[in-house]
Amino acid sequence: MSTQVTEADAFSKTCEEIIERILGGQLSVEQVEEVKMEVCAIYSSPKVPKNTEILDYAPSEIRGKLEQVLRRKPVRTASGVTPIAIMTSPHMCPHGKCLFCPGGPASEFSSPQSYTGYEPAAARGKQTDYDPYGQVTLRLEQFREIGHPVDKAELILMGGTMTARSADYQEWFVRRALEAMNDYDLSIAPSLGEGRIFVQENPQFKYLEDVISVNETADIRCIAMTFETKPDWCNHEQIDRMLRLGGTKVELGVQTTFEHINHAMHRGHGTIESVESNQRLRDSGFKVGFHMMPGQPGMSYDMGIEDFRRLFADPIWKPDYLKIYPT
Ligand code: SF4
Repeated sequence: MSTQVTEADAFSKTCEEIIERILGGQLSVEQVEEVKMEVCAIYSSPKVPKNTEILDYAPSEIRGKLEQVLRRKPVRTASGVTPIAIMTSPHMCPHGKCLFCPGGPASEFSSPQSYTGYEPAAARGKQTDYDPYGQVTLRLEQFREIGHPVDKAELILMGGTMTARSADYQEWFVRRALEAMNDYDLSIAPSLGEGRIFVQENPQFKYLEDVISVNETADIRCIAMTFETKPDWCNHEQIDRMLRLGGTKVELGVQTTFEHINHAMHRGHGTIESVESNQRLRDSGFKVGFHMMPGQPGMSYDMGIEDFRRLFADPIWKPDYLKIYPT
């Protein structure tokens, strides 16, 4: 009993001194880690405190200042929005497989299409058996653990062609992700302890509309939702469904404006589908990002330049943002 008290005492003294040292100097994230080790040794702390534990010892008036120092990878939430990327279960794209696509359920990785399974979001998907509730809960815990705010979240739905999945799957996936935000309790310290299960067992059925309505006043508000999909899977029905689920952005796999390259890569769609889906999505109020792949087999350097010239010069393209995947 007395040992426990001593250890608790040592731990609290450690946290207090770390706070003092952080406030006393301009420390980088690496220096904070060094200070932690040094102070732990001085007080024989039973463990190295996590950033969240240090914050628990800080008076509320200095918490904000401490959070700025303790937050790792600050750029992740610099916009004020926390991106929660979650992965749909491995499922073949309906057209088959593009030549450059890594992974997929039929590959050696048994991963979601387009990922090898080693990417952080794909690994979180695998860890939670691609359960949306589990993935969101795990990601929120991770963000809080390294000091990020999570009150405004953007849900990013990744993995293959989401809009080609069954309507039931799409609705279940989004609903359960939002339920995880609604259920998340900010008053409990985050914990990523080994063996922790993030998936909810035997959840009670709820209607999507009710879940969305609860989220409108939840502590963790989903303020944006991004669907990753293909130009040939954005017809009116699919767009209406994305809107109903709460979608605000679509990332389209345009990849190139050159017809023969799309054909050679077995994309399953042509340039016209890219142009028309872009138009339909804009008319429906979506923000549209393009995924582009310069350097695909058969593309010269000049073709890569021409692709981007067209995107910015021709009003039929003009994406709101780009993600570039050089091949
Ligand atoms: S559309 Fe994307 S996910 Fe599907 S096969 Fe092509 S690259 Fe892979």
